[in-house]
Amino acid sequence: MKIGVVSERTPAVVDSCHPPICSSCGRLVEPYARAVRFNCPNCGKSTIWRCEKCRKLALHYKCPSCGFEGP
Ligand SMILES: [Zn+2]
Ligand SMILES: [Zn+2]
Repeated sequence: MKIGVVSERTPAVVDSCHPPICSSCGRLVEPYARAVRFNCPNCGKSTIWRCEKCRKLALHYKCPSCGFEGP
């Protein structure tokens, strides 16, 4: 059995009870949307969410823990 390529930005599995908020635009990330979730590359404490729209537009995000901003 082959294991697929492991990406830092793994596809999102959205918890419908607690919908995540996109760290770039501040809107709720729709369940089953092609959003990505990854830990802050600076502090690693916070989980950053980005919706599909913000990924396409390459909008900046901001870490709520350390204030790190990144593309
Ligand atoms: Zn967004
Ligand atoms: Zn951070």
